[in-house]
Amino acid sequence: MKKKVYHHEMTFSDFKEGGFNKAIIGVGSAENHGFHLPFGSDTLVSHALAMEVASRVDGMMVLPPVNYGMSRHYDNFQFTLSLEFETITAVLRDVLTSTIRQGITRIIIINGHDGNIAPIEMATRSIKNAHPHVFLASLDAWWEKMGELLPPETFEVWGGLGHAGEGESSIVHYLYPQFTRMENARGVVPELPEGPQIKWRFNELTPYGATGDPTKASKEKGKKMFEVLVDYVVSFVRSMEEKGWNYGLSAR
Ligand SMILES: [Zn+2]
Repeated sequence: MKKKVYHHEMTFSDFKEGGFNKAIIGVGSAENHGFHLPFGSDTLVSHALAMEVASRVDGMMVLPPVNYGMSRHYDNFQFTLSLEFETITAVLRDVLTSTIRQGITRIIIINGHDGNIAPIEMATRSIKNAHPHVFLASLDAWWEKMGELLPPETFEVWGGLGHAGEGESSIVHYLYPQFTRMENARGVVPELPEGPQIKWRFNELTPYGATGDPTKASKEKGKKMFEVLVDYVVSFVRSMEEKGWNYGLSAR
């Protein structure tokens, strides 16, 4: 029988037998992803990454994902549902605090959505300051990380970037083909000048609810992305185990 790692599917008996000493959580969104990807894409991908990582390391449980994100900058596109910055920061803080109260003190966050980066930063920094013994790490932007992990020729347009673009469409279509409508894929590579980061609203960049080129997406690319990202997090967890979760001065 496959070991149970997902909180929602676990009984207390399973939890006791699982010997869990660390947790992983996906943080997603509920927002428009163009004409071709499901509204839950960010949650689906981050949770799938968390599930696969946990299946490959001992003692890691998967917390229920955060299904809503800070998506106000996407809400010109239907059917985006958004939490305010303060709300999701509070949700994250409460979920982390509860997890720590249950005795799990090593927690990895897999974020699936750009609007959550600042709330995750605020929540994790304040939790770490309140509970200095806790180990917290966050993969803030897998879509940027995969560009470093895969050879540049993997993607055809804009390094695979974009909201519902080539990369994201590939990984969603690979994991959940039953939810995609790839025949309707359309996107645009936005004009974003080099320099300090422009604080856009998404309808300033695209009329389609998607940026980048989702028509170049494929399951093969998605499979490579998924595998390389899972390997990246798994090897991080394994190396931290070897170091006894020590880093910085305590690792000397
Ligand atoms: Zn997305």
